[in-house]
Amino acid sequence: MSFVTKQIGSHEDVQSFLARKHGHFINGAWQSGGDLKPIAIKCPATGLQISTIESGGEIEIDAAVKAARQAFESGVWAKMVPVERARILFALADLVEANAEQISYLEALDIGVSRGLMRDIGVKLAADQIRYYAGWVTKINGETITNSRAAAPGREFLTYTVKEPIGVVGQIIPWNFPFGMALQKLAPALAAGCSVILKPAEEAPLTSAYLADLIAQTDMPSGVFNLVNGVGRKAGAALSRHPDVDKISFTGSTSVGKEILHAVTGNLKKTALELGGKSPVVILKDANLSEAIPAAARAIFFLSGQNCMAGSRLLVHADIHDQVVEGLVEIAKSMRIGADLENSYDIGPLISERQMTRVLAYIDTGLGEGAKLVTGGKRVKSMAGYFVEPTIFTNCSSSMRIVKEEIFGPVLTIQKFETEDLEDIAAMANDTIFGLSASVWTGDVSIGHKLAGKIKAGQVGINVHAAIDPATPFGGYKQSGWGREFGQDGLEAYLETKAITAYL
Ligand code: ADP
Repeated sequence: MSFVTKQIGSHEDVQSFLARKHGHFINGAWQSGGDLKPIAIKCPATGLQISTIESGGEIEIDAAVKAARQAFESGVWAKMVPVERARILFALADLVEANAEQISYLEALDIGVSRGLMRDIGVKLAADQIRYYAGWVTKINGETITNSRAAAPGREFLTYTVKEPIGVVGQIIPWNFPFGMALQKLAPALAAGCSVILKPAEEAPLTSAYLADLIAQTDMPSGVFNLVNGVGRKAGAALSRHPDVDKISFTGSTSVGKEILHAVTGNLKKTALELGGKSPVVILKDANLSEAIPAAARAIFFLSGQNCMAGSRLLVHADIHDQVVEGLVEIAKSMRIGADLENSYDIGPLISERQMTRVLAYIDTGLGEGAKLVTGGKRVKSMAGYFVEPTIFTNCSSSMRIVKEEIFGPVLTIQKFETEDLEDIAAMANDTIFGLSASVWTGDVSIGHKLAGKIKAGQVGINVHAAIDPATPFGGYKQSGWGREFGQDGLEAYLETKAITAYL
């Protein structure tokens, strides 16, 4: 228990927050309820319980949807003067920044991420995200259309478009970086004027509950933001199939994404899916290896590989293969494994025992498939939490399950190529059902652009991996998802376009 009590003792408000049994934030107030047992929230670094949430279902979702619908139809948010709606979002961003210490403490406990990393990257990015979309609120415009043909002999049409918020939106998020994830979805939806029901992951719900407390301190009208805690198959499923929800935005596994697609057919909700990945990091033989090798290590081992953009498939030219492997193994072996609230580590725990077991099973599968384990491969038994060593396999081929399936753990597969033909290299990179992220590493930027053009992924970095920015669209090709988040595309995802036409 020392992880919790020793480090957090000075943060009284965080401690009392943890002591709460978190219910559901509906129509501007916390409510309790749920037909399943409350869920114990465990710190993945210690396996010890740190807090509790209630497990909502159909009834709580229905109450939240009613509140969101009422708020939406009343126009208190959707029709609020844009500059005022923007002001409230800017105020929320300020509150997020002012509470960065508390948020990073909670996220560190909830997912085992380093607190410093969370504060400097996670919270800062979330605040920037809100400000980016707050800026859009006053710039949501339609256009005037020049009609392409005569309306009738001698008559013309005048057409203009207006952008309207989609309505009531359900947002279902996973447990990796949940605070950033919540705001990545909320900021554009709220900027567009939608009302929202957020369903956080049951493994890591704490910072979403904290966010509800922050929203309650702003002038956002009640019912615009609602939160229901609970498990996916109950609360998540009830939200996805609810007949009065206009859109579902989901981030999570490809298999749950497919279940959600079935659930939304009842009222044909608009649906955005940000799903799994198996992102290639392609190192050409002219790459600057002093940059490419550490970047490739970060691409896979950041958040212990629990990241949909993780660069989990390394494709490397044969001439530099051994040098790259040697460099990566050296980095992996020197990584500091651990998690506590004061120090920063390179590798933290996996989110749960279940996830650790899954990752270790994949490592066994890799060995069985004939891949060569060059470092790692084991649970860190000396530590109480769910830690797995940074693991690297060479001699991998595209038919192996460890190369094909998303592992969501610190496991890198390395494949070698001899060719310099960009078509062949791209074919290897594209040999996956996923298409979320990719990076190419080369000393010749022109080659980088050519190869980037051939890769089927929503985001490709040239000599950089996973360059996230609120202004840059993000989303998947193929089975990595539907739609885009971030940037103007992310805002448009919460808007309908209405064309209004009259005779001139
Ligand atoms: P991960 O593999 O990252 O845990 P999941 O796809 O299992 O991701 O879960 C992501 C989110 O989806 C969580 O909030 C979870 O509760 C929710 N979820 C899981 N199953 C369902 C379902 N059948 N319907 C709706 N939401 C679900």
